[in-house]
Amino acid sequence: ASANIGVVGLAVMGSNLARNLASREGNTVAIFNRSHAKTEALLAEHPEAGFVPTASYAEFAASLQKPRTAIIMVKAGVPTDAVIQSLVDVFEPGDIIVDGGNAYFPDTIRREKAVRETGINFVGAGISGGEEGALLGPSIMPGGSDESWVTLGPILRSIAAIAEGEPCVTHVGHDGAGHFVKMVHNGIEYADMQLIAEAYDLIRRGTGKTPAEIADIFAEWNRGELESYLIEITAEVLRQIDAETGQPLVDIIVDQAGAKGTGAWTVQTALALGVPVSGIAEATFARSLSSHPEQRAVAAGLPGPEDEFEVEDTDAFIEDVRLALFASKIVAYSQGFDEIRAGAAEYDWQIDLGAISKIWRGGCIIRAQFLNRIADAYAAEPELPALLTAPYFADALSRGQAAWRRVVIAAAQAGIPAPAFSSSLSYYDGIRAERLPAALVQGQRDFFGAHTYKRIDKEGTFHTLWSGDRTEIEAEDTH
Ligand code: NDP
Repeated sequence: ASANIGVVGLAVMGSNLARNLASREGNTVAIFNRSHAKTEALLAEHPEAGFVPTASYAEFAASLQKPRTAIIMVKAGVPTDAVIQSLVDVFEPGDIIVDGGNAYFPDTIRREKAVRETGINFVGAGISGGEEGALLGPSIMPGGSDESWVTLGPILRSIAAIAEGEPCVTHVGHDGAGHFVKMVHNGIEYADMQLIAEAYDLIRRGTGKTPAEIADIFAEWNRGELESYLIEITAEVLRQIDAETGQPLVDIIVDQAGAKGTGAWTVQTALALGVPVSGIAEATFARSLSSHPEQRAVAAGLPGPEDEFEVEDTDAFIEDVRLALFASKIVAYSQGFDEIRAGAAEYDWQIDLGAISKIWRGGCIIRAQFLNRIADAYAAEPELPALLTAPYFADALSRGQAAWRRVVIAAAQAGIPAPAFSSSLSYYDGIRAERLPAALVQGQRDFFGAHTYKRIDKEGTFHTLWSGDRTEIEAEDTH
């Protein structure tokens, strides 16, 4: 046994992760792939990595020092289950199996439970950063037992991205905690992308600026409080000219956004937990709306506003959009962290929200300056009930709210869809409202379903005899 770590699954993510591992001091990496040709190709292309190639699961297990540690990077779903079973067959108690794929967290909870019965440790680890992150340093969100973290921690720390001197990895919590947090990361990523897209659309249609000019605006924004990987790549995409037509590439790409499901998982889970992640939901639905060309073709004839959209003061409008983007982004992150907090409570995970914001500062798709402010907020108040109420964010919202309202009004008047901007503003106004029309909803519920209500002026649970004489009685709580 000559390797201290192994990788199963040598497609783009697995081979890059294996190369990353091999490049770190002290690591010898065993590699295995179902079709052996990929193993041989990786070995031939990267002789410098000193890989230990293996042609069967038994050989793979024999090449690993104990406790054996293997990271699986294969297709999520059934393939992952198949590979886990194959490893369980050849591993021994105390060994560690890590699933680095994009698993749905309930699957990870199930797998951890099943594997644990064999005495083998199972760790679901969310890995973000795409191909480049896997090679140069991803953000890693591992779950699993404390015991497995003792062996795995130093290995993962050695390959993770570094942000401000700290590796972008932390032991998130037990069983599915890592994949849960990775899921919410992706949900926030959806919201962040949609908000940027709405900002672009409003500026383009409101000012007539070209994509290249808007690229300059994003590049400028990237030097301020919006500084982030997504703003940076947005400028790159907008600047790109299609070689074939000479047009901006963004005008050539079909306007239908795909999705691999993690946004939908984030929203489904939030619905089950009762957490309003409206920004993430709108971003997910915006992709769905874009992807129905048959409906869009029929609906394209529906009327919009009569007046042309014309912005009077271009610079002021662009600054308004920037402020609206920042405010909406605060809402999206606040909602995402709310979901993590609720998930931790539901599944009994001890998740340090400040540590999560820190490991997202490097390697992953939502990496941004902004995450330092989130870390500060949780350092100052670990039990912060809503991120957007932390002083830095509350101040940014207060600075931006007037602009935010102007932008949402402008979008509505111009007939430009801005679902994430406007739902984020509604969330802000909802969460800060002293009184909500939920009182009326509860009254309606009591009317048709005797669902009862509480009173603002005394303890207890009440029901009005709506179909009788409409007097009020004390009732059992059936909220
Ligand atoms: P793919 O998701 O395309 O998976 C291909 C790999 O899975 C190949 O090694 C393939 O082996 C193996 N595989 C498929 N079915 C089986 C099976 N039944 N038994 C054994 N092996 C099987 O690869 P990626 O590198 O794109 O992604 C790997 C994982 O990482 C996925 O879970 C993905 O969701 C996740 N991920 C991907 C990111 C990305 O940017 N691509 C980012 C973050 C996570 P063979 O060569 O024999 O077909």
